[in-house]
Amino acid sequence: MITTIKGDITSEGLKNLLPHEHILSDLRPLVAPLDDEDFYKPITLENFGKLTRNPYAILDNALIGDADVAVKELKKYKDAGGTLIADVTTVDFGRDVKALADISEKSGVHIVLGCGSYIDASVSDEIKALSKDELKKRIITELTVGIDGTDMRAGVIGEVGTSGEMTEFEKKSLVAASEAQAETGYGMHIHACLWNREGLNALDWAIKNGANPEKIAVDHVDVLLDEDYILGVLDRGAYVDFDDFGKEFYVDRPTRNLLLGSFATDVERVKFIKKLIDKGYKNQILITNDICLKSMLHTYGGWGYDHVITNIIPMMEDFGISADDIDTMMTKNPIRFLERSK
Ligand SMILES: [Zn+2]
Repeated sequence: MITTIKGDITSEGLKNLLPHEHILSDLRPLVAPLDDEDFYKPITLENFGKLTRNPYAILDNALIGDADVAVKELKKYKDAGGTLIADVTTVDFGRDVKALADISEKSGVHIVLGCGSYIDASVSDEIKALSKDELKKRIITELTVGIDGTDMRAGVIGEVGTSGEMTEFEKKSLVAASEAQAETGYGMHIHACLWNREGLNALDWAIKNGANPEKIAVDHVDVLLDEDYILGVLDRGAYVDFDDFGKEFYVDRPTRNLLLGSFATDVERVKFIKKLIDKGYKNQILITNDICLKSMLHTYGGWGYDHVITNIIPMMEDFGISADDIDTMMTKNPIRFLERSK
């Protein structure tokens, strides 16, 4: 069973799932201001070029907040052949379950909700003060009873935030999430630093605290494409989340704020995935866009949630990935990851 915002569903008829996205989210509190005349301005065609280099060159780009736009964007994903999106926005950066229920209803796309805590810098003092057991109880309640007094339940844990070096709060939060994973059997996303191998430490910490590696996805491994790191995750039995499709930035040194530099391109990601398939890892690869920027939406000039279906599936075919392997990565793997094992 997969737990969606409307309750449990079977995997029958599900196809081209997106296991790591954000439908409504607000990362603005994490973005350090730039000394640039456009930083506080709305996005226009004239300043859009800046966002193709640094997506945080304009603060407003870090907010996705319009429910009508979300419905329109999800409909495009559905028209392209998509069926289900896991929205792993935690309460720390804008999860809004009532709005998401309405968006799911109007778009006809299943939505799976996330829970737990994001990175230290985004978490409120009130949540930081909770004990490990209190954090764990919150997660289990959201997975098994409901969120904010509703009967809408989360269906995946995370994305659980870890920074470049895990902070004390992040370690506590990850223990709470790992114990909740072990008890409930739900899948868990670990947000790992994009530019180092701390994700391996986070994964080891989660396993040490009881989580089942086969239900863990280590996120954002496709920014650096560091082979030793990725193989380390795979050899521990976890999923690697290729979740940055559509993000091909090289953030120029004078404008860096939230992001530290270069991202691999989609072509490099696809070639790397082909290599992993050839090594026998096709059952541990997840593919998604991690949309968290206005500029990634069609409405603002981007490629939308359907990018991996519309543009990346043909690219995978171009590089010799079979239809069967594409189906494994786009459909079978996310279903196995999201189905609770208990
Ligand atoms: Zn993340």
